[in-house]
Amino acid sequence: MEQLMKKIYTLGVEWEQNCPLSKHSSFRIGGAADVALFPKSSDELCKTLSFLREQEIPVLVIGNGSNVVFSDAGYRGAVVFTGKCRNIKIENDLVFADAGVLLSALSSAARDESLSGLEFAFGIPGTLGGAIFMNAGAYGGSMSDVCISSWYYDLETGHFGESFGDAQCFDYRKSVYQEHPERIILSATLKLKKGNRKTISEEMRAYWDKRRATQPLDLPNAGSVFKRPEGHFAGKLIEDCGLKGLTVGGAQVSQKHAGFIVNIGGATCEDVKRLIEKIQTTVLQQTGVKLECEIRFL
Ligand SMILES: Cc1cc2nc3c(=O)[nH]c(=O)nc-3n(C[C@H](O)[C@H](O)[C@H](O)COP(=O)(O)OP(=O)(O)OC[C@H]3O[C@@H](n4cnc5c(N)ncnc54)[C@H](O)[C@@H]3O)c2cc1C
Repeated sequence: MEQLMKKIYTLGVEWEQNCPLSKHSSFRIGGAADVALFPKSSDELCKTLSFLREQEIPVLVIGNGSNVVFSDAGYRGAVVFTGKCRNIKIENDLVFADAGVLLSALSSAARDESLSGLEFAFGIPGTLGGAIFMNAGAYGGSMSDVCISSWYYDLETGHFGESFGDAQCFDYRKSVYQEHPERIILSATLKLKKGNRKTISEEMRAYWDKRRATQPLDLPNAGSVFKRPEGHFAGKLIEDCGLKGLTVGGAQVSQKHAGFIVNIGGATCEDVKRLIEKIQTTVLQQTGVKLECEIRFL
């Protein structure tokens, strides 16, 4: 390990040994990673990934940690955080951005250029890379509507590649990257439409107000726990089964929105898993609907 740390030091990328992952997750859950790296540009990100590949170190790439539950045991290997790779370039109706750009910054930049299409993303607390990986969406929009291509680095082959934003790349809360975790998104191109700046701004504000009114933003969480089952809303099913407030350890079904689990203090990954199992069993027994997890256990 000491040898490895020396090599990481010479890489010239910001890093931290024994990094508590809870610090980097919106759920505030997770043990320590052996090492965490924080590249500051796409070039640094590529250099970091290529170095870790050569050293045969297990790698986990994380954006803003807003859709994940890290293991209580942490991660044996290197966790690379993309959040400092934040370059955005706009040319006409095309937006070119690094994987680490926050969606709110991206939609604000688009609004400033009177470009419409990313209003839905304002308020989703993730990065562009995480949002493409998850095909994040809200209020009728999703990344698949705007992402025309993404560049990736393949940790298995060491080659670069491009995925196009067609039906083969995306489905509901799914992308090709979930089947290929070795492909690390470096940047993406989005195609937007010319719009009216005031209208775009108002729509973003309305979505934000709606989030504040309906979501438990005052407590650590990882967004909607379950995917929307066809013909239903997960939150409504859970509420109708009387599960609001159900608690395991420090994990609780939110009183404000039953589709969210909140960390009311000291929740562990195991607490969340056990609570999810209870919810799934009860909802299946009472309604016949199988709830599938949207949040990712890592
Ligand atoms: C309060 C709240 C509200 C939310 N609302 C919504 C919503 O309305 N709609 C919605 O869809 N989601 C929502 N989410 C969930 C989450 O914000 C989104 O899924 C977001 O897109 C995740 O981005 P991230 O950067 O945080 O990804 P992370 O949580 O960091 O990672 C998610 C997954 O993507 C992978 N990943 C991340 N970056 C890369 C990369 N560069 N290359 C390859 N793989 C990568 C990770 O390994 C992980 O498996 C919400 C979450 C919270 C806490």
